[in-house]
Amino acid sequence: MKLTFFGGVRSVTGSKFLIEANGKKVLLECGLFQGKREATYDKNKAFPFDPSSIDVVVLSHAHIDHCGNIPGLCKQGFNGMVFSTYATRDLAGILLQDSAHLQENDIKYVNRKRGAKGERPFKALYTFEDAEKAMHRFVSINYHREFLIETGIKLKFHDAGHILGSAIVELTIKENGNNRKILFTGDLGRTHMPILRDREVVPGADYIMMETTYGDREHHSIDNIEPRLAEVINNTCDRGGKVIIPSFSVGRTQQVVYFLHELTAKKKIPEIPVFVDSPLSVNATEIFRIHPECYNKDVYNYILSNENPFGFANCEYIRETEKSKQLNTYGKPCVIISSSGMCEGGRILHHLKNNVGDPKNTIMMVGFCAPETLGRKIVEKSPKIKIFGEEYELKAEVVVENGFSAHADKNELLSYAKAVNSNAKSFFLVHGDEDQSLAFAKHMAAEGMNNSIVPHEGESYELN
Ligand SMILES: [Zn+2]
Repeated sequence: MKLTFFGGVRSVTGSKFLIEANGKKVLLECGLFQGKREATYDKNKAFPFDPSSIDVVVLSHAHIDHCGNIPGLCKQGFNGMVFSTYATRDLAGILLQDSAHLQENDIKYVNRKRGAKGERPFKALYTFEDAEKAMHRFVSINYHREFLIETGIKLKFHDAGHILGSAIVELTIKENGNNRKILFTGDLGRTHMPILRDREVVPGADYIMMETTYGDREHHSIDNIEPRLAEVINNTCDRGGKVIIPSFSVGRTQQVVYFLHELTAKKKIPEIPVFVDSPLSVNATEIFRIHPECYNKDVYNYILSNENPFGFANCEYIRETEKSKQLNTYGKPCVIISSSGMCEGGRILHHLKNNVGDPKNTIMMVGFCAPETLGRKIVEKSPKIKIFGEEYELKAEVVVENGFSAHADKNELLSYAKAVNSNAKSFFLVHGDEDQSLAFAKHMAAEGMNNSIVPHEGESYELN
């Protein structure tokens, strides 16, 4: 059998790993390459293989860097099934539609620029309708249910603890009388995080494909998030200010709301209004609510005692634009959670514009912000920032909270590698920027594991 890496190696976007066995082709993930628009456009448009030759797709979770090009694959001839967990299918449904919207808007902007230079216009990679059509290919199976997906190829999902529905993929492949077990970690969450169950250790794989997003970094401790969050809110309330939290709509927003609910119930913070201002967050939270099979015990018990962990008396979800605009003139202390997390678009820009200039307010950054984004400039506390092309002074307090990360850090990855099978034939280190994957290979070697490989894009390996 053969494994080829077509993306998501020495990079964190465009994950695509092709397994060929028994004359069948199984594509693990079909992510979008993200980054500078014009550079990634051609890469996303032209698949390095014939989409119609793929028999099945297996998807670990719904983040766009893992599933974002499934509509493109279907549009260009893929006619098979996409296997995922139930929650991943539901989240992928809203995220792919959102991605189609963003691309349709993006392409208009890119084409205006290209038109001015006399260059040919681009077409959107896929439309809202293509995203909707792709959902018809999804076939969902639950965690821990083994399923024969192709001749001699069995699939089983295990908890990955990364986002709702996220899974570690276990493939057992029988070819020419030999059984081989391949484990793909997908993205691995941190342990002891709220809401989701922890990632599972799946022992005994022959080959392991492991994510290394934070292969060379360590995170803040998870234990003290609650008191840190309470301190920020109490200090801001004492000043009569607002707390603005830019947050990714899926996962991070629900975690923050969950903590605010807890703090309010324990009377550690005053009962101030909490506004979740993002239509995508409203949709995502509805999906969280209908998937208790993904929760850990604490959240499950919450539900049993008839409490909604993602909503409480003073928490209001806002879908309508008009209501969102009303927040501009809201004069009392409150918390506003809005997207996008990196502040590159969305309603958060209006809230930042209205609130960054006032030292009474706090901007709380709870997620990773890529270089060059507005979010990164806020994290770095630039004295002046640009919003909608205009310059604003950043006078509000800025607090950076890294404890929420949805990815295991270096130490958590190392202990996972040891727990699953330190003697595996190979560890393929994927889904990490080059420096992170290469550094992690060194950390593994320092622990006596000299079986890691950091593949290049386009490289193939025979799995014996
Ligand atoms: Zn992810």
